[in-house]
Amino acid sequence: MLEKKCEFRGEEAIAEFEEITLDAAAVQRETLRRILADNAAAEYLQGLGLAGRTDVDSFRACVPLATHADLEPYIARIADGDTSPILTGKPVTSISLSSGTTQGKRKYLPFNQELVKSTMQIYRTSYAFRNRAFPVDDGKALQFIYGSRQFTTKGGLTATTATTNVYRSEEFMPTMRAIQSQVCSPDAVIFGPDFSQSLYCHLLCGLLYADEVRIVSATFAHSVVLAFQTFERVWEELCADIRDGVLSPTRVTVPAVRKAVSALLTPNPVLADAVERKCAALSNWYGVIPALFPKAKYVHGIMTGSMEHYVKKLRHYAGGLPLVAAEYGASEGWVGANVEPETPPESATFTVLPNIAYFEFIPLKTSDGGAAAEACYAYAEPEPIGLTEVTVGEHYEVVMTTFAGLYRYRLGDVVKVAGFYNSTPKLKFVCRRNLMLSINIDKNSEQDLQLAVDGAAKILAAEKLEVIDYSSHADLSRDPGHYVIFWELNAEANDDVLQSCCDELDRVFTDPGYVGSRKASAIAPLELRVLQRGTFQKVLRHYLSLGAPVSQFKSPRCVGRSNSGVLQILSGNVVKVFFSAAYD
Ligand code: AMP
Repeated sequence: MLEKKCEFRGEEAIAEFEEITLDAAAVQRETLRRILADNAAAEYLQGLGLAGRTDVDSFRACVPLATHADLEPYIARIADGDTSPILTGKPVTSISLSSGTTQGKRKYLPFNQELVKSTMQIYRTSYAFRNRAFPVDDGKALQFIYGSRQFTTKGGLTATTATTNVYRSEEFMPTMRAIQSQVCSPDAVIFGPDFSQSLYCHLLCGLLYADEVRIVSATFAHSVVLAFQTFERVWEELCADIRDGVLSPTRVTVPAVRKAVSALLTPNPVLADAVERKCAALSNWYGVIPALFPKAKYVHGIMTGSMEHYVKKLRHYAGGLPLVAAEYGASEGWVGANVEPETPPESATFTVLPNIAYFEFIPLKTSDGGAAAEACYAYAEPEPIGLTEVTVGEHYEVVMTTFAGLYRYRLGDVVKVAGFYNSTPKLKFVCRRNLMLSINIDKNSEQDLQLAVDGAAKILAAEKLEVIDYSSHADLSRDPGHYVIFWELNAEANDDVLQSCCDELDRVFTDPGYVGSRKASAIAPLELRVLQRGTFQKVLRHYLSLGAPVSQFKSPRCVGRSNSGVLQILSGNVVKVFFSAAYD
């Protein structure tokens, strides 16, 4: 009965998606009209002289492109309790906090019921396509999700992450049930105050429902990798808990979490034996996910952008299970869904939902048009173009106008148009625009850094070693400045190997500005700093202590001098240092 209902809904969601993508330009015009009509009374729009007009030309003529800094004073007034129509017609109901791991500072953003609606729309759409490719007709999802702490702003609004705002909405649980993504763990685990305890309990609950688990997921791939890295360390304790039917008194101490999870536990030596047998049979934990959860159909989470680094490890844990890249969005609003779930994460694209927001794209051009110089983005045209006017193969910065009070807002992400689905573009996420390693004329993006790390890590692979996590810093404290790359490895490497990695890292930054500056000694040799095991866990904890949400955590790939907390952690945990001889 349930099976039929879900299948029917899935096809309905796909039909709805087909309809809105057929004439995306018309849907965009109507979406903008609705946003502007709903918010005609907003002080921001009134001040720009829009005077109730809702057409594209008037909108573009009156409303300037904006960054978060431009809107910050308005958002601050909302957070401080001004309930007059400032950015939206209806009062904003809560504040979302961006993860702050990309730019080092958490941004306040308006959140309202419209964002809940669009979240449910994108979840349903993605799931419908996913379920067509990998049908799931019952069961549960082992989801490594963590509600974040919330606080009340001066003006009485709840402030927390966008995902927590969504988890707490009335619509979340029914939608999750409808899309067969019911979480194994009780709410007390998701919203538990201690991340390590919640992670332990997620693993335990997953094992208790092992035969029912159909989907293994997290918001970001990093959380799934972290979960199974933890499993490698705690599996024996988990088995003991299952065997005795008693939750470890040292691992889990929060009373509400203990109570909720203990209620699920009864002594189960048969299950404990089975888990132990499976673990013992694994080689280097390859395929641990399907071994423990034999009926799982796929692993799901954001695996693109800064998460791409974790795909390799995830694939190792997932054995032959498909990895499905999750949708593309931000605390500001959603952008696109992955409607081709069978595509490997490295080539995943996101199809823009034209009724979810009004989108514009600022054309970017690379310095020499070549892929190697993808970091050197410059504006090709000063003016953004519309959703359906983009060209396949070109790069753009995403600009969005949302139902939650952001108008012509520059998201700061660079995307490449990979093709079209009906008349709406399929975007490949490239990188964040402002994340750059730069000393002088050199410019390297997050993606260039990733390519460099992947390139140099090939030397490690030959030694059966891998980079667990990495970051970078443009060190300008001495003249000339130089790049510092931080690596945490899974095991100790010998110095010759690391020296070769360091040289290779220096060589694989092929940006002409970098190569020229290195040759001219305008940039000093690259420095590779190898970190103690567990350093990135300390970085994660540092962000958590500042109130950042673990579910949104992205390892900072480039740490600026202003981010002194993280820089101190990285610099304080260095075990070995190498300087490149690549240009000697
Ligand atoms: P936040 O607002 O902290 O949730 O971070 C949002 C940012 O995360 C986006 O602007 C992107 O840079 C990045 N992001 C979100 N979804 C994806 C995705 N599917 N692929 C790559 N990057 C993503």
